[in-house]
Amino acid sequence: MLVVMKAQATPEEIRAVCAHIEQLGYRAHPLPGAQRTAIGITGNKGEADRGNLESLPGVAEVIRVSKAYKLASRDVKEEDTVIRFAGSSAAIGGQDLAVIAGPCSIESREQAFAIAEHVAAAGARFFRGGAYKPRTSPYAFQGLGLEALRIMAEIRQTFGLRIVTEALDAETLDLVAEWADVIQIGARNMQNFSLLKRAGRLRKPVLIKRGMSATLEEFLMAAEYVMSEGNYEVILCERGVRTFSDHARNTLDLSIIPALQRASHLPILVDPSHGTGRRDSVLPMARAAVAAGADGVMVEVHNHPENALSDGPQSIYPDQFAGMMDEIERIAPVVGRHLPRGVHAAAAAQ
Ligand code: PEP
Ligand code: MN
Repeated sequence: MLVVMKAQATPEEIRAVCAHIEQLGYRAHPLPGAQRTAIGITGNKGEADRGNLESLPGVAEVIRVSKAYKLASRDVKEEDTVIRFAGSSAAIGGQDLAVIAGPCSIESREQAFAIAEHVAAAGARFFRGGAYKPRTSPYAFQGLGLEALRIMAEIRQTFGLRIVTEALDAETLDLVAEWADVIQIGARNMQNFSLLKRAGRLRKPVLIKRGMSATLEEFLMAAEYVMSEGNYEVILCERGVRTFSDHARNTLDLSIIPALQRASHLPILVDPSHGTGRRDSVLPMARAAVAAGADGVMVEVHNHPENALSDGPQSIYPDQFAGMMDEIERIAPVVGRHLPRGVHAAAAAQ
């Protein structure tokens, strides 16, 4: 259920409605919008008891939300969610495209700094790098762990880039939350419900990658798990799904972009690196993602991909990344977007 407050409702009235909802034994989720605040109600089994909610001061109407996902739904929040980062002009969602770039894995301080320097110079505002890697083989490189988190914190300090990195489990979640700006939940963990709930209790943006065979509803229910715990800063990332197709590692499902935008207010990014698994497909699919209306892209960049410890074949070279930035900058205005290049000097000093 959803309580829509009147446009002129006061903060006290909103607080009183939330308190009333909690008294009824439910959880209240106030989601401020440009026009009015909506308060999502969760924790009810079956239809929630409306009590006398409709008659409380400041309440415009009480609506039943029939979809399985509620807080992630556009029914609850009409405007697009924009995630901002304190002390930085970087944002995910809204008019500006967000670009997250960096290696699949942090392999050494030298490797990470060399790549960060290139992607910062080309204008990315976010740096990615795996510290904890979900590898198919237990014998494959598993990541540098805490050492990688420390290297990325230094990269933030040096270049002003915001850091995105994956948490694999409860233990690494706390570490990633401490060191990074965005917590990535990987495709393999998209339905790790206890991990999602735990991420929901943190107050850091969470980027969820689409599971390898997840439907739109399953994808949004993963976001709902995080939001149901009170963390509303969720970013969705399409990274390809498994199909019969054998010309690429995965099938990048760009058609989910408009479908998600109809269903949800959350920002949606596209990862053409894992989505294709091929260096020569990354640029065309990054262009297509922006043209299809994505809020940005996440791409793997490596200075020596032939020696990369993970995902070398899909990692693009730094000069290819710079070319990609030039091209998506030109495509952006066609679809009413803008690609900001670089972080402001003031932000870099943070
Ligand atoms: C990654 O981003 O390096 C990664 C492992 O992605 P995914 O979870 O989409 O496979
Ligand atoms: Mn990778």
